[in-house]
Amino acid sequence: MIVILLGAPGSGKGTQAAMIAETYGIPHISTGDIFRKNIKDGTELGRKAREYIDKGLLVPDEVTNGIVADRIAGKDCAEGFVLDGYPRTIDQALMLGSLLEKTGRRADIAIDIIVGDDDVIHRLSGRSMCKCGETYHVDYKKPRVEGICDKCGGELYVRDDDKPETVVRRLREYHEKTGPIIEYYRKSGILAGIDGTPRPAEVSKSIVEVLGAHGFVTGGE
Ligand code: AMP
Repeated sequence: MIVILLGAPGSGKGTQAAMIAETYGIPHISTGDIFRKNIKDGTELGRKAREYIDKGLLVPDEVTNGIVADRIAGKDCAEGFVLDGYPRTIDQALMLGSLLEKTGRRADIAIDIIVGDDDVIHRLSGRSMCKCGETYHVDYKKPRVEGICDKCGGELYVRDDDKPETVVRRLREYHEKTGPIIEYYRKSGILAGIDGTPRPAEVSKSIVEVLGAHGFVTGGE
């Protein structure tokens, strides 16, 4: 089962990708998380990626495609995976298609989580995160103790690229570069649009229903 999650920054892709990974027992591959880990570890890849990420721009395809090619070649990806934040350009979508073809596979479904721009700005401007991966929001998901992660007790921080001017640039990049991918997957016949505005648990339910309609059953069934 190969699932692609599409959606604007702040649409809830990360949360839903984690849900899919857990429910169906497949790896969750987030290019954003891979870049952030490399930035934290001070690697050469992290240094390169940071130049773009901090400005709200996409990291160049030649950098991004390489890390995805390596990751999906991993043994744990043999039974499938969920991609979160990749592909984000037509070139990346073509690259993914040809990588999968080499192993006789293709993406099963591209789920577009639909959220309006105003909502995106509101969501991102109140977001904080923990290094364990949990995310919080001043209105929708407050931690029990301000500034502290409920799950691991870590200190919460605001992502540099969630600052207001960067958010606007990220949205512009999303519409210009990622918008055409939606058409691309619609034409390929694998696109499924999901309303991303309800609460996360409701969105998850819709996603599981869509996946069920495609014949994918959860681990517990
Ligand atoms: P995300 O956590 O998915 O919002 O990604 C954070 C940032 O990482 C994005 O704003 C981009 O700068 C960069 N990034 C993540 N995935 C990609 C990708 N597939 N192509 C280019 N840049 C990416």
